[in-house]
Amino acid sequence: MRKKSSKPLHRTPQTAASHPVIPRHSGDKVTLGELREMMRAFVQERAWNKYHVPRNLAASVSIEAGELLELFQWLTPEEAASKCDPTRGDLAFRQAVGEEMCDVLMYIMSLANSVDIDLGTAIYAKMDKNRAKYPPAEVRGHYDRRKNPAHR
Ligand SMILES: [Mg+2]
Repeated sequence: MRKKSSKPLHRTPQTAASHPVIPRHSGDKVTLGELREMMRAFVQERAWNKYHVPRNLAASVSIEAGELLELFQWLTPEEAASKCDPTRGDLAFRQAVGEEMCDVLMYIMSLANSVDIDLGTAIYAKMDKNRAKYPPAEVRGHYDRRKNPAHR
């Protein structure tokens, strides 16, 4: 006869809401640091650090971006906009889009952990570059700086 174990057969899954170190903020109140910490804990709890290395993570960002794009593959721009409409759109489609966006973002967060890049600082620096590269007076209403008569 098998000895009865005191261990439960199934562990209760630990959700972010019950995780001791991960706060759960709604909407845009969550910080990049909190998202990075959530990904770090997720990877660590599964001993997946050996897989979450820069090359694999960069590939994963691209793969998930491809999955996001696949949702729109055969739609016209008008069909895509209609399906994404927050009030009258396709609920299942919007959910699928949101999940693929999260997959992309989560791999970005894990990549930031893997290479130790402070995304907040990096984004401010990149936006400074973008502002210098695309001055509003030169690109307002279009994306091609060469359309500015000053550059002809
Ligand atoms: Mg995906």
